[in-house]
Amino acid sequence: MIFDLHSHTSFSDGSLQPEALIQRALENGVDVLSITDHDTLDAYRHLPEDLAGIELVAGIEFSTQWQNTGIHVLGLNVDPCSDAIRAGVSLQTDARMQRAHRIAENLEKRGIEDAFTGAASLAKGRYIGRPHFAQHVVNIGKARDMAAAFKDYLGDGKAGDVRQHWAEPAQIIEWIRDAKGIAVLAHPLKYKLTRTKLKRLLADFIGLGCEGMEVVSGQQTPQQTSGMVQVCVEMDLLASCGSDFHMPGKRWAELGSFTPLPPRVTPVWERF
Ligand code: AMP
Ligand code: MN
Ligand code: MN
Ligand code: MN
Repeated sequence: MIFDLHSHTSFSDGSLQPEALIQRALENGVDVLSITDHDTLDAYRHLPEDLAGIELVAGIEFSTQWQNTGIHVLGLNVDPCSDAIRAGVSLQTDARMQRAHRIAENLEKRGIEDAFTGAASLAKGRYIGRPHFAQHVVNIGKARDMAAAFKDYLGDGKAGDVRQHWAEPAQIIEWIRDAKGIAVLAHPLKYKLTRTKLKRLLADFIGLGCEGMEVVSGQQTPQQTSGMVQVCVEMDLLASCGSDFHMPGKRWAELGSFTPLPPRVTPVWERF
């Protein structure tokens, strides 16, 4: 069985609609899929009638911060109709819109014209993320590609890196738990923390009710995987895995395409 418990649709910063995402997951042999859009559950209101045999686990990827680092927390197997999580999504949506206006102001000062309207029209909806701004920067010829746009305008410490005050970890984990879901730290390797600091983060989050971590996130080296297995076992957490798929054409984040979880860890789906 292939479980891919981390993916994005066009309701956040992915390129595929839910139906096309599900189709691609099936073609790639995925048996159980979670759509985990950033701070929104909108995809779950736009599912195809026929899931074509795939099993869907309702999920979300919340943005938060810990000691000045942006952190992502997955809520897996949540009840998307729960009042608590819906109220949470609504707060995060407002925060994201406020941030979008501030990002646009900062980018305009750096010579990026029509930043808000450009990003909003690429986003096509109420969800606006940094990738939409990055695409706008590329479209008006101010960066060669997305990587360059992030490097010069939207990445760490750049004009578009607005220090957003997302809901606190305690709050987010509470929403997930109130929605009967399991809170899982997303892609621990992405934060570039030392091993000691990562364990401190996990200890804090465990204290708040976080129960798992992604041991496998997309393509990673065997050394990275064994490092994450070690942390997972030491911290006595459930293990999750997922591609973090956003769009076709990214080999390192393709649906269903990653190393299976090793037998030393307890998979999060044992609790579904
Ligand atoms: P946001 O949630 O609006 O802050 O946007 C964060 C998203 O931007 C991440 O989930 C990634 O999908 C994307 N992202 C972050 N860094 C990069 C990068 N260097 N190049 C391309 N996309 C990136
Ligand atoms: Mn993303
Ligand atoms: Mn993430
Ligand atoms: Mn993600």
